[in-house]
Amino acid sequence: MVESDAHKKYEFKRTLETLRDKRGRGTELISLYIPHDKQVSDITSQLREEFGQASNIKSRVTRQNVQGAIESLLSRLKLIPKAPVNGVVIFCGAVDIGANKTDMTTIIIEPPEPIVSYKYHCDSAFLLTPLEEMLHEQKTYGLLVLDRREATVGLLKGKHIEEMAHLTSNVPGKQRKGGQSAHRFQQLRLIAINDFYTRIADAASAVFIAIDHKDFQGVFIGGPSPTKEEFEAGEFLHHEIQKKILGLFDVANTDESGLTELFDQLGDVLSDVDVVKEKKHMEMFLRDLVNDTGRSSYGEEQVRKNLQMGSVEVLLLSDELRKVRLTIKCGNCTFEEKKTMTKKPGDDDYQPGNCTKCGSSLRVVDSTDIVEELSSIADQMGTNVAFISSDFEEGSQLLNAFGGIAAILRFKTGI
Ligand code: ZN
Repeated sequence: MVESDAHKKYEFKRTLETLRDKRGRGTELISLYIPHDKQVSDITSQLREEFGQASNIKSRVTRQNVQGAIESLLSRLKLIPKAPVNGVVIFCGAVDIGANKTDMTTIIIEPPEPIVSYKYHCDSAFLLTPLEEMLHEQKTYGLLVLDRREATVGLLKGKHIEEMAHLTSNVPGKQRKGGQSAHRFQQLRLIAINDFYTRIADAASAVFIAIDHKDFQGVFIGGPSPTKEEFEAGEFLHHEIQKKILGLFDVANTDESGLTELFDQLGDVLSDVDVVKEKKHMEMFLRDLVNDTGRSSYGEEQVRKNLQMGSVEVLLLSDELRKVRLTIKCGNCTFEEKKTMTKKPGDDDYQPGNCTKCGSSLRVVDSTDIVEELSSIADQMGTNVAFISSDFEEGSQLLNAFGGIAAILRFKTGI
């Protein structure tokens, strides 16, 4: 199975969620961030030092747990002669599992982006901020909408548009006043336009230059013709920014709403940006639903049936869906059932009751995350899976109005 980037990102998000819930009873959970170029031998000697210092910890239990975690880390490190390209993070410690018990847990993560600095961190929770930052969409685009009277500069960061600057001009209209020579009027007008373009460019360049070089992807310019073409051809922007113009688009408004209008036009161009893909899927699903084409399906049961029939083109799953699919069997007869439950802490203690056939007690023989379960059916059927975040309107609609599970169908099935 080839894992898609979307699935990897989703899994990474879920792993962080799991780690976030873990607590130590004292300051005994260790997070070790190892960049690619860090010498493992250096880490080993630092850990040995930490081990020695841990003998000063007053609480006997905490002391034993910290030293136990360090020993465990040392033995793991023997298996890692060199950190992978993005580095590696090891979380280790005695995690509180309730009922006065702890469990020595080790979780190793290869992050999606490089680890910048080495960290040894011991606390009652794992240190996750450096990994959480990787989850945020860092790609940033510059947006600029302009005509001869007004201009707005904005940034598109991940899923959000932010207005950064707004300018207005005093360029006179095309009609000259009586008594002014036509030539003189035209000259003044061109100077005023030129001045305004220069002001726009200075404001825009200042905003875009300030963005971290590696995150800044380029600039889109919107406005009526021929203004935006004229602005581009005049090379008013800082030369570094001018080189990064990605395209010109017809946009009617040049105030803040123009930025949104420009963004809406970018669809195909930005097709690598997650939110655009997610938005497209949801729009297609909702359009089919509204037009009653029979090519959309929602709700767990309906979508599962369609999936198993192979009629699903794209499976839409909310990335905030937290449910498990349980397989329940009778200990005595052949009775078996499947059940979906919302995942809550303490679900491991779930008692399924008694068999309706023979009265013996039922037991849970399998518990699979519903996202994993549905994704694996999708895999077998050649269905694409799209993880939809709740950060935009249609995305939160999927979670709240459609139970987090929907499908775009290849053909009408009536389910
Ligand atoms: Zn039974």
